[in-house]
Amino acid sequence: MLRDLKQVRSIVFDLDGTLYKSDGLAKEIQEMAASLVADTRGVSLKEGRTLLRNSRKRLAELLEEEPTLTRTCLALGIEVPEFHRAMQSGVRPERYLEPDPVLQALLDSLVGGWDLYLYTNNSLPLTEKILALLGVESVFRRLYTIEFNWTPKPDPETLQRVLEDVGGPPDSFLFVGDREQVDLKVPQALGIPTLLVSETPDLLQIHKILGIVP
Ligand SMILES: [Mg+2]
Repeated sequence: MLRDLKQVRSIVFDLDGTLYKSDGLAKEIQEMAASLVADTRGVSLKEGRTLLRNSRKRLAELLEEEPTLTRTCLALGIEVPEFHRAMQSGVRPERYLEPDPVLQALLDSLVGGWDLYLYTNNSLPLTEKILALLGVESVFRRLYTIEFNWTPKPDPETLQRVLEDVGGPPDSFLFVGDREQVDLKVPQALGIPTLLVSETPDLLQIHKILGIVP
């Protein structure tokens, strides 16, 4: 379906899995979550992993979609701020991420013509760290992290707050993310154009859909 995207002024990116992909970092985050569950319940790390896995499975059946890690932990009685405190102290993105020249060039090419935003379920300290490691810390006008509303995506109310804060009609936005249900479904329901990226090179499609000749 070809859409006229001439009205787009603001591009809202997801962070994890969209601007970078790292199996190592994803694994470390899962391990941190499992050890948080284990500590909270007073069980072994192995049991923590099992609890986390079972909770995710139950939620996936209930919601008929893959739940986010934040929601899975919430279902196990771990509040969102507590989850993020543990992530900030235990997750070390510097072990896995490095400057990405392709990503830098892509975002730099957009900065003059569009306003770039980030909307992520990650926390501000980790988001800033990850962006700096990728070398793209200064291209975004504003970072909407979990601290903005303490409610993870997908969440219509938080999305509404983001849209009001940025300003402009639905067709002035483009949402870019790697998870249809989490990043794109709620904006789509409001008539906002979206781009699903399954690998970071897919980001280069932005040029095509915005009608930029490289
Ligand atoms: Mg993502």
